[in-house]
Amino acid sequence: MKENRIDLGFFPTPLQKLENLSKIYPDYNIYIKRDDNTGLASGGNKTRKLEFLIKKALDEGCNTVITAGAQQSNHCRQTAAACAKAGLKCHLLLGGDQPDIYDGNLLLSSILGATIHFTGENRKGEDQEHLKEKLEREGNKCFVIPYGGSNSIGALGFVNAVKELIEQLSEKNMKIDYIFFASSSGGMQAGLTVGKELYDLDAELIPISIDKDETNGFSLEEVVFNIVNELTQKLLISRKIELSEIKLNKDFDHAGYGVITANEINAIDELAKMEGILLDPVYTGRAFYGMLDFIKNKKLPINSNILFWHTGGLPAVFKFAKELGNKM
Ligand SMILES: *Cc1c(COP(=O)(O)O)cnc(C)c1O
Repeated sequence: MKENRIDLGFFPTPLQKLENLSKIYPDYNIYIKRDDNTGLASGGNKTRKLEFLIKKALDEGCNTVITAGAQQSNHCRQTAAACAKAGLKCHLLLGGDQPDIYDGNLLLSSILGATIHFTGENRKGEDQEHLKEKLEREGNKCFVIPYGGSNSIGALGFVNAVKELIEQLSEKNMKIDYIFFASSSGGMQAGLTVGKELYDLDAELIPISIDKDETNGFSLEEVVFNIVNELTQKLLISRKIELSEIKLNKDFDHAGYGVITANEINAIDELAKMEGILLDPVYTGRAFYGMLDFIKNKKLPINSNILFWHTGGLPAVFKFAKELGNKM
């Protein structure tokens, strides 16, 4: 798949054992995959998708990329960086109203040169086609990246990521039984699901739902399923993956997207103080809390090897200074 992508990050990302945490919870061996270290303007899981998406934009002769998200979107920040590197103009459609002071990911997206449009209630790309028409009337050729970079092109980054993981596991002579990660726009989950099938990864995915809202009328399972279907056709995988196989743990998303609770704060606190690794309050804090809940309540077989796939998100910590600073 090499020819379908450009280099935007540092791969393979490190695979490490969480030694201190594995001592505290001696029934399990706990590992971490460091996609927070992909290197693209503070890193994160979107770098893997953008390697394929930006290549496609360049191949189609586009000069402008449009994408969308929340104001603290890590996807939008990494897209802005990728566009800067690839020489493309970047337009971001971000939910909410323009704040007086930009911080966290919003600040970084702006520093990285993106043109930012504030879209009120809409944070999932509802206004993208409208902006595309306007920019094309002005003579641009636009490439629209869907919310979260989650389509069958972006998800190829995570099909590849499974291959990367399998190579690391074989080098280290290791096996992983369960993989926890934050699932939100579905591209990562779809890519991992198909990669698992394609490369015969014998591990169970435990995606933790972050955002309980639907995307353009579809549940997250449906979004993942649609991308999985497109991918299996593209990659000529003969077995049909059923909707019922798309699992999603929804035990931890009740507070709503981007709402920080004691759960996220406790998870950030525990990993930071035990291992010196930083999580973010929106995605990885929530997913890591979910994994700790499985571990603390022994919901998985004793002696399992558990992997937390760290997906990045650090800049959002600074947006939530009040919540995180007060309670620790
Ligand atoms: C986007 C994102 C996710 C979720 O990945 P999806 O492919 O959108 O499901 C998880 N963690 C972080 C930090 C993210 O930015």
